[in-house]
Amino acid sequence: MRTQVAIIGAGPSGLLLGQLLHKAGIDNIVIERQSGDYVLSRIRAGILEQITVDLLAEAGVGERVKAEGTVHHSIELVFANTRHPIDVHGLTGGKVVTAYGQTEVTRDLMDARSAAGLTTIYSAGNVTVNDFDTDHPVVRYEKDGQTHEVLCDFIAGCDGFHGVCRASVPEGAITEYEKVYPFGWLGVLADVPPVSTHAIVYANSERGFGLCSMRSLTRSRYYVQC
Ligand SMILES: Cc1cc2nc3c(=O)[nH]c(=O)nc-3n(C[C@H](O)[C@H](O)[C@H](O)COP(=O)(O)OP(=O)(O)OC[C@H]3O[C@@H](n4cnc5c(N)ncnc54)[C@H](O)[C@@H]3O)c2cc1C
Repeated sequence: MRTQVAIIGAGPSGLLLGQLLHKAGIDNIVIERQSGDYVLSRIRAGILEQITVDLLAEAGVGERVKAEGTVHHSIELVFANTRHPIDVHGLTGGKVVTAYGQTEVTRDLMDARSAAGLTTIYSAGNVTVNDFDTDHPVVRYEKDGQTHEVLCDFIAGCDGFHGVCRASVPEGAITEYEKVYPFGWLGVLADVPPVSTHAIVYANSERGFGLCSMRSLTRSRYYVQC
């Protein structure tokens, strides 16, 4: 196969990049190691900042998030046992926070991709990125017992921190900035209505941080510091 941009990874970044390139008239193929169903069932994020919602609209996939996302005009900070509402909308000239599951974002992008007839290869095994610093990069992968090749002008590594692209970059070519915190979060996803549907609650207490977030009006996402 031949394409202008071979995108590795069909998470939100790979699919969104594919959509933006397509809108700009640039041909692309997405290559993903998992199945489409697996990607769609992988529960992760759920809170979208304004910049993300705007970008989805620009990419032509903003209709459902606008119709079905739960809009928050404020957030709440809690400390010393007192709730402090912060008027995000008023203080930022109209920006809001939108609760809309990452799986829904992925579904919208997948639907747009198939409606546009763009190629996505799921369940691609042993993906390798080759000659990416030359004029003729090649992506190879295995599927149905055969090795396939995608010739391209550019390879876009959208396969996350543990993916093959980052690991293929020569040592020293990436500058890393990292801060390690001495604690972690326990996250609980529960099919119960959220504590607060109008704002996400960020709470500080003597026993550490707690977050009351949500995925929808019937599904809650809670975090406690450990
Ligand atoms: C529990 C949790 C909660 C989160 N909550 C929020 C939130 O509320 N708001 C927010 O903005 N963000 C949140 N995030 C972060 C958000 O989920 C990530 O930023 C987002 O998934 C990154 O998207 P991505 O497309 O870059 O990577 P990914 O979603 O990781 O996608 C990478 C894709 O590449 C594929 N891949 C990996 N290796 C290979 C390979 N070798 N070959 C081919 N394909 C490969 C993977 O299967 C995957 O589909 C959360 C993350 C987690 C884990």
